Amino acid sequence: MGIIVQKFGGTSVADVEKIHNVAKAVIKEKENGNDVVVVVSAMGHTTDYLIKLAKEVTKNPDSREMDMLLSTGEQVSIALLAMAIQSHGYKAISMNGQQVGIITECIHSKARIVDIKTEKLQKYINDGNIIVVAGFQGVTPDGEITTLGRGGSDTSAVAIAAALKADRCDIYTDVEGVYATDPRIVPNIQKTDVISYEEMLELARVGANVLHPRSVETAKQFNVPLRVRSSFKLDNLGTLIIGVDNMEIYKPVAGVAADSSQVRILLSQLPDIPGTAAKVFGALAKNNISVDMIIQSLASNGKNSIAFTVDADDLDSALNIINNVKNEFNSGEILIDENISKVSIVGAGMVDRPGIAADMFRALADNNINIKMISTSEIKISCLVEKDKANNAIKALCKEFGLESEEMAVVKGDLPNV
Ligand code: ADP
Ligand code: ASP
Ligand code: MG
Repeated sequence: MGIIVQKFGGTSVADVEKIHNVAKAVIKEKENGNDVVVVVSAMGHTTDYLIKLAKEVTKNPDSREMDMLLSTGEQVSIALLAMAIQSHGYKAISMNGQQVGIITECIHSKARIVDIKTEKLQKYINDGNIIVVAGFQGVTPDGEITTLGRGGSDTSAVAIAAALKADRCDIYTDVEGVYATDPRIVPNIQKTDVISYEEMLELARVGANVLHPRSVETAKQFNVPLRVRSSFKLDNLGTLIIGVDNMEIYKPVAGVAADSSQVRILLSQLPDIPGTAAKVFGALAKNNISVDMIIQSLASNGKNSIAFTVDADDLDSALNIINNVKNEFNSGEILIDENISKVSIVGAGMVDRPGIAADMFRALADNNINIKMISTSEIKISCLVEKDKANNAIKALCKEFGLESEEMAVVKGDLPNV
């Protein structure tokens, strides 16, 4: 008998009927002889609705109060799921992040988990309960409620699996596994049976939101066997995400993804002296603003410019900071480009295959898609393109790298309303 952690996303618990279906899936795992901890997200589009509500109250809601508000979504679904499981004759108990002791840093809206207390979880497991835990939330050592960032319930589930040394963590969602790209954009897309932590982590980071990036990071760090599978086809094994040692053959390109949530900031006429970049990015880092792509131009006449991308949500704070840097250096204009999307290809097999980048650029050019910025890592190439070209870019790249399939993917949930 082992411990299995299951996680069900918003679309899987969107209404009462679906909550009962989840209850049955949980009970099935219990009947297999396992102890079960189940992590759930807020019902359907609840989190989007709560964000909208807050923005109707004020344009700039306080981040502490935002976490207080958003964490309520998951509290509704855990109670309802625990009731549903009990109504089928099984012992169940719901717990929020604070009750479990999911301890996080004190960074509202994107806190990282630093520790998970297992005593209470273990006690309730020993008493024969199925435990239903609220995803996406934690508590600071001072008792402040935090959330882990959009999609963060995946990370809650994997972190709990790691803390309990669970046998497996199964992420149930509205598609049948991880595909080479979002099946909502390319329905005739190949499904992936096995993928390495490294590739999945890159894919998640560059926009494949089927898994929260930190969930993959945590699974990799603690070697948690992770599956993405369908909440409507329970017998389907979905996609297994495992360590690199277990894989021998890699495709050059395992997946394609796009991220339209960034903006580009350009700061021109900076002095070409040691310490300029350190000042710009040091100031951003001090304010917890993550920077993604960076380009510094070649210097001319003792001046150069730096362009970088940040999350659109961080634009206002980033501009405040960059304005100070501009004044300090007496530099040129700050230009903002919001019409960008970062399209990336990921594959461990692209290492030592120099032709892949050229193939990517040609496929984009053949489709009349201009590249605004490029960045590469060992197993990833990203190009910044115009926002409305992103889907075409994804389609072109899936075709270019042979990722299409004869079969159509089945997607159960509603279109995300973002
Ligand atoms: P949940 O509510 O279960 O957490 P999400 O909406 O967060 O579900 O994640 C599932 C969605 O991820 C799918 O409906 C699909 O549109 C999207 N997605 C993006 N990229 C991929 C991919 N490479 N493979 C599978 N699904 C993907
Ligand atoms: N409910 C949160 C969100 O919508 C967390 C999650 O679903 O994973 O982002
Ligand atoms: Mg999700």
